[in-house]
Amino acid sequence: MTARALTVLGATGSIGLNTLNVMARHPDKYRAVALSANTDVQKMLGLCREHRPRYAVMRDEAAAGQLRDALKGASLNIEVMSGEQGLREVATLPEVDTVMAAIVGAAGLLPTLAAAQAGKRILLANKEALVMSGALFMDSVKKHGAQLLPVDSEHNAIFQCLPPTFGDGLERIGVKRILLTASGGPFRTRELASLHEVTPDQACAHPNWEMGRKISVDSATMMNKGLELIEACWLFNATTDTVQVIVHPQSVIHSMVEYVDGSVLAQLGTPDMRTPIANALAWPERIDAGVSGLDLLRVGRLDFEPPDFARFPCLRLAYDAISAGGAATTVLNAANEVAVDAFLKRKLPFTAIASVIEHTLGRIHGTSAEVLEQILEADERARREARAFVAATMGH
Ligand code: NAD
Ligand code: MG
Repeated sequence: MTARALTVLGATGSIGLNTLNVMARHPDKYRAVALSANTDVQKMLGLCREHRPRYAVMRDEAAAGQLRDALKGASLNIEVMSGEQGLREVATLPEVDTVMAAIVGAAGLLPTLAAAQAGKRILLANKEALVMSGALFMDSVKKHGAQLLPVDSEHNAIFQCLPPTFGDGLERIGVKRILLTASGGPFRTRELASLHEVTPDQACAHPNWEMGRKISVDSATMMNKGLELIEACWLFNATTDTVQVIVHPQSVIHSMVEYVDGSVLAQLGTPDMRTPIANALAWPERIDAGVSGLDLLRVGRLDFEPPDFARFPCLRLAYDAISAGGAATTVLNAANEVAVDAFLKRKLPFTAIASVIEHTLGRIHGTSAEVLEQILEADERARREARAFVAATMGH
């Protein structure tokens, strides 16, 4: 068997590095053809040294120029590209069969969509792309014969608990419910009155997972679960009636599927993203992911509780956006990205993240999300509204 040829979008991030870690354990099976990063030239240089891709993409020409110089100094012959055009190119390379979509946020949409249009095998971590453009994205996957393998741990767990024919419809395969588990993040039990004063570092200190800062804040507000609910509806052709969010603080069960005969299948494991990454990389085979085994005797107990919508208003807003339809989930995602960015820059208190999103959803409605232009326009409009609200809230 020849090695699978991969493009890793977002190679310098948490998912990107974990992907390269798993790939490097199986050099006979996987080969990195292209890597992309935002602006961290030094980190990309290190990855180029280690993984010897043919192509590297940086976000802008300035970073690309620096990387070219650094690669020349290191005598590495790697073609460096930049920007949207560069991302599109490496996401659609004829010599690449698999694309890991691990850019964070809306910036990942266009290259992931391009990979779908080129009929690639897509390992999807970038949930925001699907939340922004669900119908359009799923249509592209179908139309161009692409293959979508979920990397998000919950969705990968659900995928593992479903038969391969799940695309025919959940009812036909006897699925009653999908149980989407959530850890509840770092503030599940923190005194409510003190939530307004939490710092970015406190929000990013997740009890079970080590992740990028944006998704860490999303986990703390539970917007992450809202985005994942939307993601699950698209991936598995489900509705909010068939997906139930259930808080499971240990993050040992990564999600479950309940069938009409009463069987509930669960996927368990040590919380380590290399497991779902390896599953998606190798599917339908299994490979060693370097993950330590699950010691249930040490875990001891598995707890469950319902989500607290008063504590986590962002989760309720996600439900609102789904029922509003059209481009509402695009608006939800864009407003959330603006609010989280402002919070991380200490320009917005933690508890105001939900207010920014609620305000923005209230300002933009009745939008469609049938074609890409409408989606990009809704995204842009939402960002403008959200930024203006942040500025007004902070009094400047
Ligand atoms: P991260 O911040 O660690 O990494 C993000 C990557 O995207 C980096 O390589 C960065 O250079 C690149 N990037 C950022 N902005 C960019 C831009 N404007 N243009 C081009 N590249 C850009 O994030 P992460 O935690 O690895 O998450 C990546 C994606 O995977 C997110 O969509 C997240 O929701 C999803 N995800 C992550 C985890 C996890 O455990 N980290 C789990 C499930 C899903
Ligand atoms: Mg997840």
